[in-house]
Amino acid sequence: MNDHQGESQVTQRLLQGYPGAAMLVSATGDIAFTNENAAGVVSLLNSGDLPDVQGLITQASDTSTIATGALAVPTEQGEILLEFTVVPGVGTGLFLLLARDLTMERNLRSALVESRQRYKDLVEVSSDFYWETDTEGRFVFVSPRGGLGYLADELINDAGEDYVTDPESYTPLPFVSERPLEDIEMWFRSKEGETVCMLVSCVPLFHEQKGAERLWSGTRGVCRDVTDERSSEAALARARHREQLLSYIVSSVRDELDPQNMLNAAVTATARALGVAGCRIYRQSDPGQFLVAADYGNIEKLEDLDAAVAGLEDLSEVAQLDLEHWSVLAVSTHYRQTVNGVICIWKSNKDGEWSNDQLIMVSDIANQLGIASEQVTNHERIVALSRTDSMTGLLNRRAFFEEELPRRVARLERSRQTAALFYVDMDNFKLVNDVHGHQAGDDAIMYLRDMLMDFTRPGDVIARLGGDEFAMWLDGIRPEVAEMRVGNLIEVSQSMREFSGAEDRPLGISVGVAVFDPDLAEPLDELLARADAAMYSIKKAGKGGFHMAPMPAPKTTESG
Ligand code: GH3
Ligand code: MG
Repeated sequence: MNDHQGESQVTQRLLQGYPGAAMLVSATGDIAFTNENAAGVVSLLNSGDLPDVQGLITQASDTSTIATGALAVPTEQGEILLEFTVVPGVGTGLFLLLARDLTMERNLRSALVESRQRYKDLVEVSSDFYWETDTEGRFVFVSPRGGLGYLADELINDAGEDYVTDPESYTPLPFVSERPLEDIEMWFRSKEGETVCMLVSCVPLFHEQKGAERLWSGTRGVCRDVTDERSSEAALARARHREQLLSYIVSSVRDELDPQNMLNAAVTATARALGVAGCRIYRQSDPGQFLVAADYGNIEKLEDLDAAVAGLEDLSEVAQLDLEHWSVLAVSTHYRQTVNGVICIWKSNKDGEWSNDQLIMVSDIANQLGIASEQVTNHERIVALSRTDSMTGLLNRRAFFEEELPRRVARLERSRQTAALFYVDMDNFKLVNDVHGHQAGDDAIMYLRDMLMDFTRPGDVIARLGGDEFAMWLDGIRPEVAEMRVGNLIEVSQSMREFSGAEDRPLGISVGVAVFDPDLAEPLDELLARADAAMYSIKKAGKGGFHMAPMPAPKTTESG
């Protein structure tokens, strides 16, 4: 049987070069030959894991045609899929059995199907919209879900341009672009009338023409809705902008050491940062009483502002006041949950509505200002304390001589008016203490204080210089009137006798008066010395009276 053997050897050589598993089997499934790639399949056949292969061989044998079938084989690594092909009549009583591993192919295909589904889902859930236009820029195709709130059918044949808020600002408009464009940020009007921001990309489409240049036939593109991204970016940008303005205001306030200057800086910076006509800060020291603490801008035409602010019931929220030609925003400032003032900003009502940013900013500023206002109040308290005598509440010696008198003297030098300085010392006061006790002494001091306050007019000023010594400044008074008034004072002081420690040494006052005349150019310390000396001269003369200090000689000015 040389022929048979030769034939078989040729077949075997052929199969040896076959890239898959190939074997020759008998009709009953006995293996006559296997190539190298068939090792795995052979072991499966031998282990009896592939019973259905025999069915295929029988089928091929019976029908004398090729039989094919896919068999799933469970293995430890998971199911594998093998495709078997049985070719009859390749040798005497032999069948060619080819096996192909379909596992990879099947997995790939299902992955592909899956990804297609995923892709489809993506298209369906995204608000992207795909389109194709003709050369006129009219939609000839729109992805099935449509776009901008319109169904695809509603957009077909419409010009893309008609949906763009300001088509002139895009050149070229993607819908008629003959060149590719990428991520052009464009604003559209949606069916609901909202403004929608889309990133638009497109590629032109061309007709191939035999023997002629390619002809542009339209454009294909995609619009991606980024409205939410853009609006949150814009909100972020606005917040960042507000933060910058606020830090500008805070830093201009912080650079000031003097609390009043802090508020002045605050109104200026606020008005500038918010671009408003003016800004005013009120401080509330007593409930319901708002004092203007700082101003910026022209307030003249806003004379009703104080009353309007005082009349506001709830200041915790930003309130809007309309005062004739002005629109005012007012909100309270706080310190430790207590209202301590109000900040107002205003602008002409021709300048339109207040922006959301301005509303937010004025609240933010108010939050910062509460502390500054409190500092001003504290500072005032400290200044007041440092200026006054704690027992009587009158000015103390330092404030009287160093602050009050120089200011008043300077004013009189401008108005060319005279004034009078009264030096008052109690007579026999020590005895009140000694006989009736210290409390009675205190009462006598308070009695004299009240007496002096009754004696003076609102523009005058009284100080307690220490112990039983007082001083008064009577503004704008003429010398003869001063003399008359001091006489009255001595008369009134007779009532102090009831505090006396002894009848022969009655409680009373001795007063020295020095008249200030701006024409005499007398230094302040010399004026004080004259008053003091006048007081001592009446003490020496027996107390309970007054002495008018002689006027100084006029000073001649050298340059005059
Ligand atoms: P003269 O008539 O010469 O002015 O003598 P005087 O008794 O009024 O005594 P003088 O002015 O020399 O002294 C004032 C005294 O007042 C000394 C001090 O013990 C007392 N004194 C000072 N401050 C107070 C105070 O706040 N309350 C009381 N009760 N006494 C005071
Ligand atoms: Mg005295």
